[in-house]
Amino acid sequence: MVKNYCRTLPCVAFVGVMSLAVSYGTALATPAGAPPVPALYSQLEAFHGHVCAGSIFGARLGLAAKEALKAAGGTGRFTARYYDLSCPVDGIQVGAGTTYGNAAIAVDDRDEHRLVLSADGNKMSVEARLTNKAEELGLRSRDLGKKIRGLTAEDPARVQLEREMEEIFTWLKTAPNDEVVTIRPLKGKK
Ligand SMILES: [Zn+2]
Repeated sequence: MVKNYCRTLPCVAFVGVMSLAVSYGTALATPAGAPPVPALYSQLEAFHGHVCAGSIFGARLGLAAKEALKAAGGTGRFTARYYDLSCPVDGIQVGAGTTYGNAAIAVDDRDEHRLVLSADGNKMSVEARLTNKAEELGLRSRDLGKKIRGLTAEDPARVQLEREMEEIFTWLKTAPNDEVVTIRPLKGKK
């Protein structure tokens, strides 16, 4: 399977599997600041349909934002807004537990990897963005994917590029939250 960081189908495509995502937030919660557990990534891959940097960093954004909003005292139902219609949207649904079927995520397609998570109970919000390193690695994985697709399976250069891609995925999955995501509180619901 070609592993790429790609654009994905509109949200309507995954309404049918929302029940899969509903339990992620509670069953796979991790201590604050720690990277997600491996089981979360297995479920993300099954949900999203392939492994890619975008879905992984989406999960990191979603989980870190949820932890930060809880720690800040956000109450009630959490809802997400993301500013790019692409693979990270699936990661956010898994990481933050804010699913499309529950009307808990909206997408404003502005080509920005920016997540705003809001607590409906007391209107608190946090914004989550990628660190420069995470964003650069996401772009690098996209370039690698294009190069890999241009090579035959037997080409030794392909093996090397796939190895680099795997290293990027591993880093995005396992680096501490503050190396992947930056969080800031927002005033009022955005
Ligand atoms: Zn993807």
